[in-house]
Amino acid sequence: MPETEERIGVLAIQGDYEAHAAAFAACGAETMLVRTPQELATVTALALPGGESTTMLRMLRRDGFDAVLRDFVRTHPVFATCAGCILLAREVRNPQQESFAALDIAIERNAYGRQNESAIVPVETSVPGGPDRADGPMEGVFIRAPRIVATGPEVATLATRDGFPVLVRQGRILAATFHPELSEDRRVHRLFLEMLAGKPPESSFGEPSLP
Ligand code: GLN
Repeated sequence: MPETEERIGVLAIQGDYEAHAAAFAACGAETMLVRTPQELATVTALALPGGESTTMLRMLRRDGFDAVLRDFVRTHPVFATCAGCILLAREVRNPQQESFAALDIAIERNAYGRQNESAIVPVETSVPGGPDRADGPMEGVFIRAPRIVATGPEVATLATRDGFPVLVRQGRILAATFHPELSEDRRVHRLFLEMLAGKPPESSFGEPSLP
């Protein structure tokens, strides 16, 4: 595993933060759970878990944590999944919702409809497999997932489902609409650790073709 000096926090306000901590631990990386602005001040990188973005926002607003977190995600390495990805987006639709606008994407919440709310499907990816996985598609666990419907010029698409981006990178930000923390395949968490260790960006699928 790449060595990193970063101290990685996992936002533990709501959602599946324990699964993120376990996934990082499986990669040999220590994390600490972050519940307050004081705890956030002790970390240098952050994972935003899946869960329910409206609930997270409501809880974050209680003690002004949202403003501190907004500054953090605009200036530090961040790995976000699902609801976390919604929090980072430039624009949130269905319904419109306030967000930190740190990642240049437009995202539509609960985009897969009622019948198809949750699904495990293979996603095409350019992220290499690693020690325990072959290259090629990885398991995508989608739970009431949002869909990325537009990406800005700085955003690289690293995995897709039905042609839509499901894993994107913009500089120090990595974000997935699915839940790599709930699969045994650790390549997305490893990629974030490699980003922290300063490895150059993965090649993407080329220019995004979305509106
Ligand atoms: N549907 C949730 C939201 O809108 C996200 C679901 C998830 O994180 N698995 O915030």
